[in-house]
Amino acid sequence: MFNLAVLKFIAVSSILHNDNQYVWHPFTHLKYAEEPVHLVRGEGAYFYDADGNKLLDAISSWWVNLHGHCHPYISQKVSEQLQTLEHAIFSSFTHTPAVTLAERLIGHLPDNQSKIFYSDNGSTAVEVGLKMVLQYWHNQGTAKKKFIAFENAYHGDTFGGMSVGARNVFNNAFDNLLFDVIHIPLPDDENIEDLKATLQSWFTNHDDIAGFIFEPLVQGAAGMLMYEAKHLDELIGLCQKNRIICIADEVMTGFGRTGKFFASNYLHHHPDIICLSKGLTGGYMPLGVTACAQFIYDSCVSDDKTKTFFHGHSYTANPTACSAALASLDLMEKEGTWEQIRMISGLFTDFVSKNKYQTLLKDVRSKGTILALEIGTNEHTHYLNSASDDIATYFLKRNIIVRPLGNVLYLIPPYCISKQELQEMLMVCEDFFNK
Ligand SMILES: *Cc1c(COP(=O)(O)O)cnc(C)c1O
Repeated sequence: MFNLAVLKFIAVSSILHNDNQYVWHPFTHLKYAEEPVHLVRGEGAYFYDADGNKLLDAISSWWVNLHGHCHPYISQKVSEQLQTLEHAIFSSFTHTPAVTLAERLIGHLPDNQSKIFYSDNGSTAVEVGLKMVLQYWHNQGTAKKKFIAFENAYHGDTFGGMSVGARNVFNNAFDNLLFDVIHIPLPDDENIEDLKATLQSWFTNHDDIAGFIFEPLVQGAAGMLMYEAKHLDELIGLCQKNRIICIADEVMTGFGRTGKFFASNYLHHHPDIICLSKGLTGGYMPLGVTACAQFIYDSCVSDDKTKTFFHGHSYTANPTACSAALASLDLMEKEGTWEQIRMISGLFTDFVSKNKYQTLLKDVRSKGTILALEIGTNEHTHYLNSASDDIATYFLKRNIIVRPLGNVLYLIPPYCISKQELQEMLMVCEDFFNK
């Protein structure tokens, strides 16, 4: 006779066995990857695994779960929507969640934003933004096709997203299929004047530059690289003066991550197009948004049917996803959430000043609720740096989930985390580099 523990062991191990048998995980080294952790439940800032361990989700599950897991309010709203209208075609038809969400997002976005286009994830939100720019110029009868982007950028895994992203190990296999992009370095005090001069001379000598795309203030996948709003502002100002359309990829930085509602709120010059996803639904449902200024939309309003923006996905504006986003927005509009964001930002700022001269760290930086620790190793800072696995394993042993970008360990916790939990997590970081 099996006892209950044995039965449970068999059920659990068969999941891992079948995972290995049938599932291909993303961004995963298929030969050397550790067995995945089998998660069975989420609550607040924590996951529970099949062995009964309680694990702190220090990275909001790939930067999406703003309010933690299984938040009762969002779960309630999603389940109500599921009883009412779970999905509907979005061409020739509309529904309340999509319209209300569009109206409320426009209320929060910079003043020049006036239309919301829905898609399914961050990559598609970027893809739509790029295509809007190309369609805009096409509809004007000009052949502008070239984009400017930052070195080390990450804008998703679809072909347009990969093209404007850095050329690296992520996309080597597809390199010759990606379109040409002008990659420029991140601006800083030293290079800003040269950068502006270089850009201006391009604009003067070439008439094929269509747009400029950037991750405002923080380049996420590049290793949480941070740069100043005032420099970005100057570049946007220069581009807009030369009629180059500016796309802010706020897929990661949106919804309070940088300390303001959007990173674009730090800028005086408003981007023409803004891409959102990740935190949009509080981590509940896949959804992407590409917001744009009126002139982009107007360029597709024409008697000529060939000027239509021919883009859409089967699940565009899925009502359940829109309801999750509306519920997440309700929470974002609560003062308590902003107190939490300020609490997290404050602790991160203190941690940075305290550990600035820590010898094992090459750098430590923070912006809002994002903290990045660049661990010194004898390899250079790189996504494939072997420190990554050691760091993840160390933290998992302490019941904390992190997913370093090479030797860059970062924390991007859900806003529901308590001060004490966060302090404990920062102590584990200090233990790690004092070990
Ligand atoms: C994650 C990310 C994307 C891609 O989003 P997915 O939902 O993973 O397709 C695009 N841009 C930025 C800045 C991101 O961080």
